[in-house]
Amino acid sequence: MKRFIEGECRDQVTLLPECLDDFIGEDNPVRIVDAFVDELDLQALGFNRAAPASTGRPAYHPAVLLKLYIYGYLNRIQSSRRLEREAQRNVELMWLTGRLAPDFKTIADFRHHNGVGIRKVCSHFIGLCRELKLFSQAIVAIDGSKFKAVNNGDNNFSNGKIEGRKRQIEQSIQRYLDTLETADRTQPAEVEVKTKRLKEKIELLRLQMQKLEQIQEQIKAQPDGQISTVDPDSRVMISKGQGVVGYNVQAAVDTQNHLIVAHEVTNIGNDRAQLSKMAQAAKQEMAADNLQALADRGYFNGPEIKACEDAGIEAFVPKPLTSNAKADGRFDKSDFVYLSETDEYRCPAGESAIHRFNTVERSGLNVRVYWSSACIGCPQKSECTTSQYRRIRRWEHEDVLERMQERLNTKTDAMTVRRRTVEHVFGTLKHWMGSTHFLTKTLAHVGTEMSLHVLAYNFKRVMRILGAKNMMQAVRSVPA
Ligand code: SF4
Repeated sequence: MKRFIEGECRDQVTLLPECLDDFIGEDNPVRIVDAFVDELDLQALGFNRAAPASTGRPAYHPAVLLKLYIYGYLNRIQSSRRLEREAQRNVELMWLTGRLAPDFKTIADFRHHNGVGIRKVCSHFIGLCRELKLFSQAIVAIDGSKFKAVNNGDNNFSNGKIEGRKRQIEQSIQRYLDTLETADRTQPAEVEVKTKRLKEKIELLRLQMQKLEQIQEQIKAQPDGQISTVDPDSRVMISKGQGVVGYNVQAAVDTQNHLIVAHEVTNIGNDRAQLSKMAQAAKQEMAADNLQALADRGYFNGPEIKACEDAGIEAFVPKPLTSNAKADGRFDKSDFVYLSETDEYRCPAGESAIHRFNTVERSGLNVRVYWSSACIGCPQKSECTTSQYRRIRRWEHEDVLERMQERLNTKTDAMTVRRRTVEHVFGTLKHWMGSTHFLTKTLAHVGTEMSLHVLAYNFKRVMRILGAKNMMQAVRSVPA
């Protein structure tokens, strides 16, 4: 081993520093985790057992378990069993917990029973960022992404899926019955053994059929017509053209420092009803008087955009490209100009389309309907409509959407800013989570897990922005 760098002898007594603290550098993130949790008022944040019980076996202080979890999520160790192992062998964790090594059940129970407290800690950290003036621009990008649940696709059932499976089972039973009949005719010597085996298979399939029928009955009681047997709250949702059994995680990310200001886990497969809720949560967390919220076409929803405007939030959401007229080469609604003074539309032929009647759409929106009497003899009719008259429908609050379109026309980079702000955040979170995203089941516990991920993400971002030394000062100076 000459001419190589040599390690220390394992038998010598001075191999390790005498003091555990000597292992941990001054700018080690573990020191910031320690200081951050020590500054929290865990009782006020709603953690169980923050005050010691007067009887029984002493418990671990919630601060120890919270430090363990924050360290774990910062270092991509999310499982309670892996955290148990790390607490026994990882020097940083030995330093952080004072060489306490709780068993995995204690660690898992802490996350299970302290969802409210953990979410408040995540929110408290956003408050710390606010105090540090990290949100000075008051612009957020909102987006959603599908995260896989513990539930496998085979354990999610819909009526169509069950009918398909039942058909397959019926075909299999018929095939086995045919085989039995053939065996009876052609191989009388072997028929006894074969019959027994095939009858067992048929019995198994009939049991499967009964189970499917029971699930089909349960599906009837579900409003969205599906059931997941492992994680009952998870739902099939479409992600990149494929079905995923999971959750839809919503996030509002600030465009200045790319911090996750607000997040929410839902089991609704689309983003149409999420805009105002996320934007208002972000506005509250940032304590902003005015907020700009950028979102993609999936969030375009008139009442949601109006709710934002009513709450003092300027939404920037492009209209989806769903016009059949445009696709067929005819004029679409944007070719008609609304004249507010006279409450009429000027059509591409220069004619006036006047208000005719009001109606309520299937979505519940009140709309006003307009058309022009000049349509009958119009030379451009073939480019406009296939009906007798070209009808233009106007939502009663359409002015809200027109104001938003004007904002989008002036802020031409809104969607570029949105994309570069929020999309990599989801990419990073999924990378940290690994191939199986969530480890827990049900909406409440998955929400807790997500809060820990968001806390870890923001923690790392602030450490990158401020540096370890400044962040340490910040966590100590900002009151809990
Ligand atoms: S068909 Fe009617 S609405 Fe269309 S361009 Fe002609 S007059 Fe105008």
